[in-house]
Amino acid sequence: MEKTFIMVKPDGVKRQLIGEIVTRFEKRGYTLTDAKMMTVSRETAESHYGEHSDKPFFGELVDFITSGPVFAMIWEGENVVENARTMMGATNPKDAAPGSIRGDYAVNVGQNIIHGSDSAESAEREIGLFF
Ligand code: ADP
Ligand code: MG
Repeated sequence: MEKTFIMVKPDGVKRQLIGEIVTRFEKRGYTLTDAKMMTVSRETAESHYGEHSDKPFFGELVDFITSGPVFAMIWEGENVVENARTMMGATNPKDAAPGSIRGDYAVNVGQNIIHGSDSAESAEREIGLFF
């Protein structure tokens, strides 16, 4: 069965959105197979976001994701990688549709509440990195 890596980022944890996000995935029909509260090390953050290492926002991104606890999860079910991305909404909340997680709860691209793997290959890599 397909799996994906979903993480409530430090802003989502601070804003007490873990329950809301878990509920949305459960109600959609997905199964939570593992989850943990954790603080991301700089090393893990730099590896997780390695594809963005040459971007101007990389330093800020690593600082942010290591700034407080995150809630890391593995979700399983049919088309979970793609459907989770749709449920999350566009990366920049200004473009995220109402009804999506970012469209309902975020306004700033740097603090957009949630991470979800962008492909089955990314999911496998990210699950291996965090679990
Ligand atoms: P996604 O999280 O939707 O997969 P990306 O992989 O493109 O998006 O980017 C990773 C994260 O980096 C985003 O979720 C966002 O928090 C941050 N980010 C992306 N683009 C920018 C930007 N232009 N300025 C600041 N932060 C950004
Ligand atoms: Mg991404």
